[in-house]
Amino acid sequence: MKSIEEKILKEGIVIGDDILKVDSFVNHRIDTSFVLDVCKYFASEFNNIDKVVTIETSGLAYAVVTAIELGNVPVVFAKKSKSKIVDENNVYKALIKSFTRGTTTEVTIDKRFLNKDERILIVDDFLAEGNAAKGLIDLCEQAGAKVVGFATVIDKAFQGGREYLESRNIKLVSGASIKRFENGKVIF
Ligand code: 5GP
Repeated sequence: MKSIEEKILKEGIVIGDDILKVDSFVNHRIDTSFVLDVCKYFASEFNNIDKVVTIETSGLAYAVVTAIELGNVPVVFAKKSKSKIVDENNVYKALIKSFTRGTTTEVTIDKRFLNKDERILIVDDFLAEGNAAKGLIDLCEQAGAKVVGFATVIDKAFQGGREYLESRNIKLVSGASIKRFENGKVIF
């Protein structure tokens, strides 16, 4: 989407040679009309989705609005933290390495909220190495559900996540695809 590329060029800040900071509209302040535009685009690319799956936190706004645009399908988000509310014996579990923190966390989805043969669209804010994607796909597959697509606001095409989805035959829809960073500039 041209509008996302323009927004990234205007507001994005490149950190080192592998991270884009977009906290003015994605990861801290949320630009609501931008969310709506992006999610309308995501929803227009998929049919017959039963459920949208994401991981807390930044993908949630996009997951919810996309799910509304898909005809009010439910959203389930993988939880990163353990708490008394999570029933440890009744959850699917996967390990996900965080690209920005470098730590690995066990994430969970309650077995009641993923079902066999459901057609799942995963929505997230970024696709980088594909670790979040792999973990979320794993959780869905443990339930016997089928991941048919992955929609991300921004993908960094040089970090491996895109190839992984292609190798799994999972359709990738990306608001903006970054080829590389060059001297602090974003190249699409
Ligand atoms: P992956 O799991 O594909 O390696 O990385 C995707 C996750 O890491 C996203 O959920 C996102 O939160 C975070 N992430 C990866 N790259 C970036 C980046 O360049 N900027 C920001 N803000 N988050 C990123």
